[in-house]
Amino acid sequence: MTTTDFTPGPIDRAERVYVAGHRGLVGSAVWRKLESEGFEDIVGRTSSELDLKNRAAVFEFFAEQKPKHVVLAAAKVGGIMANNTYPHDFLSENLQIQVNVMDAAVEHGVERLVFLGSSCIYPKLAEQPIHEDALLTGHLEPTNDAYAIAKIAGILQVQAVRRQFGRPWISAMPTNLYGPGDNFSPTGSHVLPALIRRYDEAVQSGAERVENWGTGSPRREFLHVDDMAAAVFHLMEHYDGPEQVNVGTGSDVTIKEIAETIAKIVGFEGETVWDTTKPDGTPQKLLDVSKLAGEGWTSQIGLEEGLRSTIDWYREHADTIRQ
Ligand code: NDP
Repeated sequence: MTTTDFTPGPIDRAERVYVAGHRGLVGSAVWRKLESEGFEDIVGRTSSELDLKNRAAVFEFFAEQKPKHVVLAAAKVGGIMANNTYPHDFLSENLQIQVNVMDAAVEHGVERLVFLGSSCIYPKLAEQPIHEDALLTGHLEPTNDAYAIAKIAGILQVQAVRRQFGRPWISAMPTNLYGPGDNFSPTGSHVLPALIRRYDEAVQSGAERVENWGTGSPRREFLHVDDMAAAVFHLMEHYDGPEQVNVGTGSDVTIKEIAETIAKIVGFEGETVWDTTKPDGTPQKLLDVSKLAGEGWTSQIGLEEGLRSTIDWYREHADTIRQ
């Protein structure tokens, strides 16, 4: 079966939506978006309440809660260092989480499911900007290949569910995200929150020097997480296709430029040193967002505006955020 019975348009606000990973950067933004759209029955569980690696517990949860729709934003996520050091954990845990959730969602009749992957699913040397068609056309970036393979398996599972059961499930591939609720831990975070923390701590301690990994020359695209949640919700209501949809802004900056902007906003006036013995990762990662634009959505929050509010949030929550 290759067609689904999807009718584009508003989802009934009374229907139950399960946001897997609702405390994370992405899940919490999706939750806020659903609330602002008037959804009245949103459910979530922390990993200590429901470990999604525990297959029996996941099936029990779906049998009890019977969500009509699912946003799958639970995953083991990390930056280059964590991915490079724990490839087994990134592969195994992500496969377990997504297979358990999708299998239970198949069994319990979930109508719409959005699987969230990441732009690292595309080949390291994919032509820029990266079109959805680049999937599986070349070698992956080795520092996060295990994570990427798990995510690619997730896209394939969504496609298989569509083919076999005709459910209008979809996959969305966000670019690098940032915003309130991000992971600012020194070892587990992505580049942007790591830079915010490093520069802010330098200002607080009066340090004259900040050292960053790599050359600073890789180009990256950053999307505010509230924009991402708006895009994902737009796709849930309007998109029905087997192909994953890129979610980004369509423009990129160098890591050096982003570091300079953060340094300016936090008020760091010292020197920045680049440790070129450390890996840079993929040279450029810019998503082609024409498919998303064709579906009627483009990003709204500018980078400097988004950075200022994220830095304000970080400073307000510095004592309580994840360590
Ligand atoms: P976070 O680390 O902020 O959140 C991950 C969430 O997953 C947490 O809420 C955590 O729950 C939950 N989780 C992890 N393991 C388990 C488990 N075993 N059982 C139950 N829940 C679990 O990640 P993000 O929000 O950044 O990422 C979410 C998704 O978005 C991922 O699929 C990622 O690939 C994608 N994405 C993220 C990007 C980014 O820049 N951040 C970019 C592109 C894609 P708890 O808090 O309760 O422990």
